[in-house]
Amino acid sequence: MSVIDLRRLTSTARQQALRVVLIGPPGAGKGTQAATLKERYGLAHISTGDMLREEVRRQSPLGSQAKALMAAGKLVPDVLILQMMAQRFQQPDVSRGFLLDGFPRSRAQGEALVAMLAAHNQPLHTVVQLDLQDEEIVRRLCLRRSCPACGRVYHLQSNPPAQAGLCDADGSALVHREDDNEATIRTRLAVFHEQTEPVIEYFRSIGLLQRVDASRPIAHVEHLVERMVQGALTRTSPLRSSRRLTISKFRSLGRAARG
Ligand code: ADP
Repeated sequence: MSVIDLRRLTSTARQQALRVVLIGPPGAGKGTQAATLKERYGLAHISTGDMLREEVRRQSPLGSQAKALMAAGKLVPDVLILQMMAQRFQQPDVSRGFLLDGFPRSRAQGEALVAMLAAHNQPLHTVVQLDLQDEEIVRRLCLRRSCPACGRVYHLQSNPPAQAGLCDADGSALVHREDDNEATIRTRLAVFHEQTEPVIEYFRSIGLLQRVDASRPIAHVEHLVERMVQGALTRTSPLRSSRRLTISKFRSLGRAARG
């Protein structure tokens, strides 16, 4: 393979659109990790929770159907979520690669996602599960604050903003989400165990799942997630497969010369 071919393949691998799902219970740090990955890989960060909160704010028909369910910590019906996502996937930024956060949340959503991506020949590279115990989740969410403008999340003890009450990125006043109270958190956890764990199992069964211990410090989790994402990209990059081809070609040439 010539140097020019190698350079072309290396840059293709770098530009390869990354398609990742971050999955895990509420409060496991999906939003925090998503912000880092989004910056590093220039991905579209698609958070169904943020999209739904925006629909509620705009008082759209979807927003009015979702509002009470969200406040109670229950799931919005699959059919509504899948319609919303089908529209989102038509936007041009998705072709640069994407990071799904909060979707899929049920086995039906997971199977629909995999089928849709397969139909477009754009399969997921990996699904990263952020795993965390229920009691740690309750502790985290009660002190969680988030930026309504950019979605960045903070924790008043372990990850506070530089200036109290204001987002580091854009200075907006931080909010305490209505559903981040103990009773609703417990419902969200029950919903997670009943409805989202089956989709995690589904991703495991099709070989896409990688698990991270989300109780570790943010920077450590970031490092682990980065390694997993890089590994998944390398496994599927055109550079790697063409290298494999070249090596096997040399091997068979060697065998032919010897034989
Ligand atoms: P969390 O902090 O619980 O991960 P999100 O911001 O992702 O919260 O979602 C908030 C709420 O929005 C959920 O409790 C649920 O009511 C609704 N929601 C978000 N994504 C989905 C989805 N994929 N399917 C159904 N409901 C969803």
